Amino acid sequence: MKAIQNETSQVYDLSPDYDPWDPIVSLRKYGRHTLTSVEMTVTNLCNMRCEHCAVGDSLTMKEGEMLPLKTMLDRLEEVEHLETISITGGEPMFRASTVDEVIVPLLQYAKSRGLRSQINSNLTMPYSRYEKLLPYLDVMHISFNYVNGDDFHEVGFAGSGHPVAKEAAYRLYDTMIANAERLSADGMFISAESMINYRTHRKLPEIHRLIGEMGCRRHEVHPMYASSFASSLPMLSLAETAAAIHELLDTRDPEMWMLFGTLPFFACSEEGRDLELIHRLRSEKKVTVRNDPDGRNRVNVNLFTGDVFVTDFADIPAFGNIAARKLDDTFAEWLDRHPLNQTVNCHCEAAGCCGPNLLVKDMYYQNLDFKSRKAITL
Ligand code: SF4
Repeated sequence: MKAIQNETSQVYDLSPDYDPWDPIVSLRKYGRHTLTSVEMTVTNLCNMRCEHCAVGDSLTMKEGEMLPLKTMLDRLEEVEHLETISITGGEPMFRASTVDEVIVPLLQYAKSRGLRSQINSNLTMPYSRYEKLLPYLDVMHISFNYVNGDDFHEVGFAGSGHPVAKEAAYRLYDTMIANAERLSADGMFISAESMINYRTHRKLPEIHRLIGEMGCRRHEVHPMYASSFASSLPMLSLAETAAAIHELLDTRDPEMWMLFGTLPFFACSEEGRDLELIHRLRSEKKVTVRNDPDGRNRVNVNLFTGDVFVTDFADIPAFGNIAARKLDDTFAEWLDRHPLNQTVNCHCEAAGCCGPNLLVKDMYYQNLDFKSRKAITL
C-alpha cells in the first residue's frame, strides 16, 4: 500500500486553530467542497442503547461477515484529498477481534499516510482494548451527558426494551470514568461530546466540570436533533438552546477547548439573539464552531454492506456502494446532482459558514431559502 504523506496534517497539532474535520478548511483550500473525510461503520453491535442514539435503529444483536478489509483500504487509497478518517459503530471496541483485525490496521494505514483519525466509543470496554490504539489514534471521541451513575442508567439503556439493573449500569459508568482518566494520563486526546437536549440543557456546567476532571482535552457540544432513537424525544426551542450555550460559556473552564457543532444559529439570521450568540462564540478564547461535515467533506461507509451514505438525513438512503464506484465519484454525484444538497450548499466566507445541516434545516427552518441569504456582518 502506497503511503502518501499529507504535509498539512503533519505540520499542525489539532487545536482550536486547526480542525481538519471542519469542511470550511477543505472548501478554502480547494475552492469547492471536496471529499477529505471518510467514516467507517465497523460494527452494529453495542452493549448500550442510549435514548438519543443516532444509529439506534440499525443496532443488532448479531452480525454477519465483514467485507475484506483490503476492499476498504483500496477505496481509501483512491481518495485523492483524504485528510481524516473516523471509525464508528455501534460500539467499535465491542469485540476484541474487531480491534485487532480492523481498527488497528485502519489506524496504522491512517498514520502511514499522515491522516488524522478519530474513533467513537462509549469507553466501557476493557482498558487493554483501548491501550492498543495509543500509538496511532488522534482523537478518542466519547459521549458524556451525565452528572452521576443514575443519569447514565436512565440515558444509556433507555432503548434496551428490557430493564437493566442499576448496579450493572453503575459498574459500566465507573469503568468509563476510570478508562477516561487512565487514557488521558497516558496521553490520549479524549474529546467528550455532550448534547444539548431536554435532559441536559440545565446540567451542562456540571457535565463540563466532570469532563475536565476526567482529563479530557476537548468538550464538544451539539444540540440533539430528531433522528433515529431521538425522533420521539421532546425538542428544545431555539431560545432554550441559546440560553444553555450562554450558561455553559459563563461557567466553563477557559483553558479547555470547546467545540460547538451542528448549531442551528446562522450569521444570516435576522434575530438579535442569534447574532449575539454567534458573536460571543467567535470572540471567546479556545471556543470553536465546526461546520457540519455531513454532505460537505465526508461520506460514511458500512463495512458489512459496502453502502455509502453522504448524510444521516432520513430522506437520503445509501447513495452508492464501494463495490461499484470510487468514493470520490459517489461524493461528486451527490455534490453536483442531488436536489437536496442544492438547498443547503450556501457559503458566506465572512462568517466562516457553509450552510446548515439538512436535519437542522428540516427541524427549524423548513421554509427558509438559505441560498438567497447572506451573512450579516458582525
Ligand atoms: S452560509 Fe448560508 S447559513 Fe451560513 S450565514 Fe451564509 S446564508 Fe446563512
